[in-house]
Amino acid sequence: RKEELKSFLYVESKTQDGKRIKLFANIAHIEEIDAALKNGAEGIGLFRTEFLFMDRSQPPSEDEQFEVYKTVLEKMEGKPVIIRTLDVGGDKNISYLNIDKEENPFLGYRAIRLCLGNKELFKTQLRALLRASIYGKLKIMFPMITCIDEVYQAKWIIQEAKEELKKENISYSQNIEIGIMIETPAAAVISDILAKEVDFFSIGTNDLIQYTLAIDRTNDKVSYLYNPLHPAILRLIKMTVENAHKRGIEVGVCGEIASNQEFVSVLIGLGVDELSVNPSKILNVKKKILQTRFEEENLRVRELLNWQ
Ligand code: PEP
Ligand code: MG
Repeated sequence: RKEELKSFLYVESKTQDGKRIKLFANIAHIEEIDAALKNGAEGIGLFRTEFLFMDRSQPPSEDEQFEVYKTVLEKMEGKPVIIRTLDVGGDKNISYLNIDKEENPFLGYRAIRLCLGNKELFKTQLRALLRASIYGKLKIMFPMITCIDEVYQAKWIIQEAKEELKKENISYSQNIEIGIMIETPAAAVISDILAKEVDFFSIGTNDLIQYTLAIDRTNDKVSYLYNPLHPAILRLIKMTVENAHKRGIEVGVCGEIASNQEFVSVLIGLGVDELSVNPSKILNVKKKILQTRFEEENLRVRELLNWQ
């Protein structure tokens, strides 16, 4: 089986009827880059930077972050690298941020909300990212977006960081793409509006399912309701893909379902352009992509959209 999977390493990731599906890797630590490359990742679809900030007594400095981001970009040798800005708060506590304990952490002060409220912390990360951008193909991604104003604010702070660097004669790449995660129902529903302001979407199905079906993703008692094929989820994904494609931007999926054999073909049928999965799952997912017929899945999905 391992040998069989290895034989897919140099095969282009596309469906039987020729639809290209980009196959990227999710990572949280730079140690995982080698595994991503060894399994043929075409890029990094999600670098979860929060692990850089956890289990320590103060945030990583700009230079420390710069070194990490530079390493990822260099090792990926010009392949796209989507780095997600800090996604903490709520259940992922960080002592030095002094976040108050909350009744509903998943509905609370987390991710982009926390970053917009801690501008120095956020800007330090953005400066480190901008400085690293000259070492590869960086794409910056914001988590937990619910409204257009968060996008405006985050982009504004990037602009400020760029102006600071310019004044300091520090270079950064001129074509860094800015994208957002679609992981709240609100973002999916207004994806037509959001698509005008960003260069790409990545659907975070772990949270999208949690928020749409109103089930805490860490609560075992309600996990039986965690159904990625619920028509509400499929409709939100479809809507997001259509709105993105109308604006000519691409849509990836970086939630866990992207690596599940059962759901890969459904996501392809819904028209997504890219799947991002754990490095160890890449070749399994490629095998599934190679077996899938897009036109067939597209028809099958139309039924699923109306049926549970
Ligand atoms: C998601 O929500 O699907 C996602 C990829 O982000 P995380 O699992 O880090 O919340
Ligand atoms: Mg998420």
